[in-house]
Amino acid sequence: MSREELAVQRARTSFQTGRTKPLDFRVHQLKNLLHFISERCADISAATKNDLGKSQHGTKLFETLGLEGEINLAIENLAGWATPRPVEKNLLTISDEVYVQPEPLGVVLIIGAWNYPWAVTLQPLVGAIAAATKSIIKPSEVSSHSAKVMEEFLPQYLDKDLYPVLTGGVAETQEPLKQRFDHIFYTGSSTVGKLVMGAAARHLTPVTLELGGKSPCYIDKNCDISIACRRITWGKFVNCGQTCIAPDYILCEPCIQSRVIEEIAKNIKEFYTDNPKTFEDYGRIINQRHFKRVMALMEGSTVAVGGDSDESQCYIVMKEEIFGPLLPIITVSGVDEAIQFINDREKPLVVYVFSHNIKLIKRVIAETSSGALLANDCLVHFTVSALPFGGVGNSGMGSYHGRHSFDQLSHMRSCLIKQLSMEGVNSMRYPPHTAKKLSW
Ligand code: NAD
Repeated sequence: MSREELAVQRARTSFQTGRTKPLDFRVHQLKNLLHFISERCADISAATKNDLGKSQHGTKLFETLGLEGEINLAIENLAGWATPRPVEKNLLTISDEVYVQPEPLGVVLIIGAWNYPWAVTLQPLVGAIAAATKSIIKPSEVSSHSAKVMEEFLPQYLDKDLYPVLTGGVAETQEPLKQRFDHIFYTGSSTVGKLVMGAAARHLTPVTLELGGKSPCYIDKNCDISIACRRITWGKFVNCGQTCIAPDYILCEPCIQSRVIEEIAKNIKEFYTDNPKTFEDYGRIINQRHFKRVMALMEGSTVAVGGDSDESQCYIVMKEEIFGPLLPIITVSGVDEAIQFINDREKPLVVYVFSHNIKLIKRVIAETSSGALLANDCLVHFTVSALPFGGVGNSGMGSYHGRHSFDQLSHMRSCLIKQLSMEGVNSMRYPPHTAKKLSW
């Protein structure tokens, strides 16, 4: 039996014991996850630095702070989330018990991506523990240092049988995908997402797919361009552009294009100095393969700022997610054309719009589709636990964060408890179906 088969089998056996179900067990595991993050913060930081060049503060701000917030939220609200949820009654159920009982799905496979190796791998785990599932955690091999720390230390904090960490590359991910799971939670590219969904379909396993895509950013010419560009520069260049919800390209009218470029250039300098290469808060592209991929996107294009920005080799850049520090600017005649441009492409993870005009913002909400819409800022919707985080269409399916993670990894079981009495009210449904009964 392979290592992967053994892990799944062990997980299923331990799940069947019902060990994950008591609320205090779940809270205990969640608290241990908090201890892991605080006690191993030096190892986590060092690994993330080695993988992505992230600074210690950057790791705290973009990886572990949000994770700790999600864990604390789950600890505080778990009892409420897990409790039966009464539903509206009708005439036929007026004297019955009618409710939805969240039920653990079973054994979940969590496959993480490399760009935020802690946040995107352990945040789904928070929901999985809260929902009393048993979870196999597969961090990305691309962020190898983080995967190693997770493999070495996480089992010292969490129940080893219930939450094992499997490391390895594509082959090691494909192996467990042959097994039967009760849910697969995948974060990564849309291309691999399709393979994961194909593998899941063989067992009728439901999936959550947290994928990527090209998130557009429309700047209304009448907005405060200085503030807009400051927020866009931050959202784009954090983690070297390797953020699933980074603005992928700007849409604006030609009359503000040079102002936008000027403001972004000013902000890059202010945030990362004249020499970002040696600046601690400017990270690195994860590896040579991705470096070459991003460089190839720039071939033959006009660079407006730095060596890294690009107006686009339109055909290539505008089809593929950039996932790097390039920010093409596409000029449009106004919001009508921007909406058309967005709608001509795959549904993105986010649509960003910068405007003082609430009617314009609401129009973009009404006339486009995306996982989320964020007006007048970048990235921060990720931190709002009350909002479900996820994609639509090519950018994914299913969502998580806060209570949504719990719900995503639970089966919402419909429960109707009737009495073995009041048989008279059922006479209409029993044959013979006479006109007399129906005229009641
Ligand atoms: P990656 O290469 O780390 O792959 C992700 C996971 O898939 C890894 O665990 C890897 O082992 C596994 N994998 C890779 N190829 C596989 C295959 N052929 N079969 C089975 N498993 C395989 O990450 P990536 O795909 O380069 O991640 C970047 C993408 O992830 C971007 O598109 C980004 O937008 C997206 N992303 C989305 C979110 C989100 O929350 N929606 C978050 C982070 C990243």
